[in-house]
Amino acid sequence: MVGAGFGGIYAVHRFRKQGLDVLCLEAAPDVGGVWYHNAYPGARCDLLSIDYSFSFSEELQREWNWSQRYSPQPEILAYLRHVTDRFDLRRNMVFDTRVTGMTYDDDLNLWTLTTNNGKAYTARYVVLATGPLSAPKEPDFPGYRDFKGELYHTGQWPHHDVDLAGKRVGVLGTGSSGIQFVASVAEFLYRITEPVLAPIRSFMPNLGGLDISPIILILIIMFIQRVITYYIYPSVF
Ligand SMILES: Cc1cc2nc3c(=O)[nH]c(=O)nc-3n(C[C@H](O)[C@H](O)[C@H](O)COP(=O)(O)OP(=O)(O)OC[C@H]3O[C@@H](n4cnc5c(N)ncnc54)[C@H](O)[C@@H]3O)c2cc1C
Repeated sequence: MVGAGFGGIYAVHRFRKQGLDVLCLEAAPDVGGVWYHNAYPGARCDLLSIDYSFSFSEELQREWNWSQRYSPQPEILAYLRHVTDRFDLRRNMVFDTRVTGMTYDDDLNLWTLTTNNGKAYTARYVVLATGPLSAPKEPDFPGYRDFKGELYHTGQWPHHDVDLAGKRVGVLGTGSSGIQFVASVAEFLYRITEPVLAPIRSFMPNLGGLDISPIILILIIMFIQRVITYYIYPSVF
């Protein structure tokens, strides 16, 4: 196994129950996947915590109580640590180990996985639970590397206190993470500047740069329908 997020944790449990000899390699120092890496202020799940839980164990579901409907990152990480420890999965996991290469030996029918710390592992089957969102996208615009202030990425938030109180903070990005972060820290910042690189228009149709609310759009469509009907079936009117 590669990766110890939601997917990797469950896979280790499941494969071990099937009697397989499992080892999970994880680049981070602990389990959690995105919930380990995205430790930024304000991070929380956007579907109900109860739905964002494992369903493979009745006992686990009964003994874990989410404190909030949409749980914050620390609680989700605590849950994943709890699941890992409760089912004693750590003994099948190796942390701080990033897989850097894989080769397949046709004669031996074996994969060899090489890692960043120089160790190599062999396995007949490899399951990649490396997730779609665990590799942060580094900005590539000029000057980014010359910035002299403190620089953080929500997807690689440090696991120690970051004191933003009273500071000028620029936030790039208005996706879920950007919105959660701003909403969570805005009240105690000196000033927050948010260059809107990609305006949020998830539910607002954009007609030639003009935002039209869905209600207005529906009214326009109804009006056009009536005009067309009038010309095709004038007797209706
Ligand atoms: C901020 C945020 C909020 C989210 N909220 C929700 C939500 O509310 N509801 C929802 O359904 N989904 C949400 N998601 C989506 C989330 O990605 C999935 O729900 C789920 O947690 C992904 O789990 P995973 O195990 O597939 O992958 P990940 O959690 O991404 O785990 C992959 C792991 O693989 C490791 N890894 C990667 N490459 C290597 C390598 N080469 N060697 C060793 N280890 C490696 C990584 O370090 C990571 O720990 C959210 C994602 C983010 C980033």
